[in-house]
Amino acid sequence: MSAAHSVITIDGPAASGKSSIARLVAQRLGRTYVNTGNMYRAMTWAVLQAGVDPQDADAVRAAAADIVIESPVIEGKTQVCVSGRPLTDAELNSDPVNRAVSFIARVAEVRDRLVADQRALATIGPLVMEGRDIGSVVFPDSPHKIYVDATEEVRASRRGAQGLSDQIAERDRIDKQRKNSPLVIPRGAIVIDNSHITLDQAVDQVIATLQLT
Ligand code: C5P
Repeated sequence: MSAAHSVITIDGPAASGKSSIARLVAQRLGRTYVNTGNMYRAMTWAVLQAGVDPQDADAVRAAAADIVIESPVIEGKTQVCVSGRPLTDAELNSDPVNRAVSFIARVAEVRDRLVADQRALATIGPLVMEGRDIGSVVFPDSPHKIYVDATEEVRASRRGAQGLSDQIAERDRIDKQRKNSPLVIPRGAIVIDNSHITLDQAVDQVIATLQLT
């Protein structure tokens, strides 16, 4: 495997605005954007397609072993495919996937596989990768770590404005309390409160604080 390129890690709770920020930071810096939530969502979509109960960890583990997830880079960002079929935003963000994804994401074998895929992506070029454990577990040695936060009210209203119903408080609870790679502020991360600033201001803040050389 060739040497890993540098990775800007962006973590934070659901609907904190980290995806929009990460996408624009990647564009501004000419880096590839990786949304790891979509990898867990793709796995969840496939597990649900297989008719498996998302809360039955043994059944999820068995089903996941046969599911092929790929993340080809297309136009500067990763696309997620299940057995070669790209998933649409509607499929990735459907209500059933929103409800089930945190249960799938707490299964250690699922995480191990997707974390290995995420680390492998760093061989293709410099990345901006966002998720829940990118600065804490996937790339703990990165010198460029950001944690994006926003109040629960702001996050819920942003999801509502997108026309999406999403149990973000419940997902956050499961994501923070799970045994494997819980959502934490990674050591060395700079915290950005995205409650009352614009997207452009948040992107400027991230780029200013990173002090890239
Ligand atoms: O980022 P997004 O809200 O789309 O993530 C969906 C879910 O995927 C999260 O609620 C979490 O359960 C899981 N996830 C994770 N680790 C990551 C990214 C997402 O556990 N690095």
